[in-house]
Amino acid sequence: MALRNIVTDEDPILRKVCRPVGEVTPRIQMILDDMVDTMRDANGVGLAAPQVGIMRRMFVAEPEPEKVYHFVDPEIISLEGEQESEEGCLSVPGRVGKVIRPEKIVIEGKDRYGHPRQYTFEGFDAIVMCHEFDHLEGILYTDKATEVFEISEEEEQEEE
Ligand code: ZN
Repeated sequence: MALRNIVTDEDPILRKVCRPVGEVTPRIQMILDDMVDTMRDANGVGLAAPQVGIMRRMFVAEPEPEKVYHFVDPEIISLEGEQESEEGCLSVPGRVGKVIRPEKIVIEGKDRYGHPRQYTFEGFDAIVMCHEFDHLEGILYTDKATEVFEISEEEEQEEE
């Protein structure tokens, strides 16, 4: 298990648009595996490559325990409906905010093995995937939030 440092919101790296990954090489797989370890260690439900300082279009997510997704060069191909989420971010410690997200999305991309995948996500899973996808565009949830609150360390549990 290898943990990577999570960069926080004052770092300009989080504001850049990430470049495509292309081929899923063993090096990319290693980074994805480290990202899963890092996400779990931080009690997060998602982590995007720029959050560990890598400007490539990939993220990992575990919206339910043991249900891990790896996305390489993802595209959101459809969005439907609306829901209000309450989100935190491992790169924005100490705060949560309310964001309007789509209720349902269809997303495609490559998995950890470079195989093409397409998934439909609804509810909380859709929130997590949209939040992580935004990181690849240099967008933080605080940009979209209608309200942002300060929280104490004890309140800080699940973060994306
Ligand atoms: Zn985040």
